[in-house]
Amino acid sequence: MGTKGREIVGMDVKELLTLLNKAFADEWLAYYQYWLGAKLAKGPMKEAVMAELVQHAADELRHADMLTTRILQLGGVPVPDPREWFKMTNCGYDAPNDPYVRMLLEQNIKGEQCAISVYKALLEKTLNKDPVTYNIVLQILQDEVEHEEDLQALLEDMDLMIQENKR
Ligand code: FE
Ligand code: FE
Ligand code: MG
Repeated sequence: MGTKGREIVGMDVKELLTLLNKAFADEWLAYYQYWLGAKLAKGPMKEAVMAELVQHAADELRHADMLTTRILQLGGVPVPDPREWFKMTNCGYDAPNDPYVRMLLEQNIKGEQCAISVYKALLEKTLNKDPVTYNIVLQILQDEVEHEEDLQALLEDMDLMIQENKR
């Protein structure tokens, strides 16, 4: 990246790159978890759940893209080997072995809650140190907060539907 652009980063760039690459690994794993979950989903409100999972998959891939742009600007290399994702990840990967919609929602809610914690910590780390990374992380965090809410709202609707059927 440009020399002045690097000069204004008031923190250890190597450490920052490691954190960004860990988040990058999380995003790819989250992308795949959503993408496959959307293909497999079974159960009540399947259509609504699938539509949400597909959207979220696209968002996670976009997050990986945003992180890549910043990693390259900072002179880093995005994790070149997918096998490294599992060593780097903060939030891990939950295989959608049980395609029942409720299980998928619960797995992905857990993932979003982890992502929210990771990006909150990254925001605090970059605050007043690297405004460009801060801005990217803030945008991603806003999406993850929305993702969690979307999934929890679906679960809630599912519960209400089940109650309604029992009346
Ligand atoms: Fe994400
Ligand atoms: Fe998300
Ligand atoms: Mg959504």
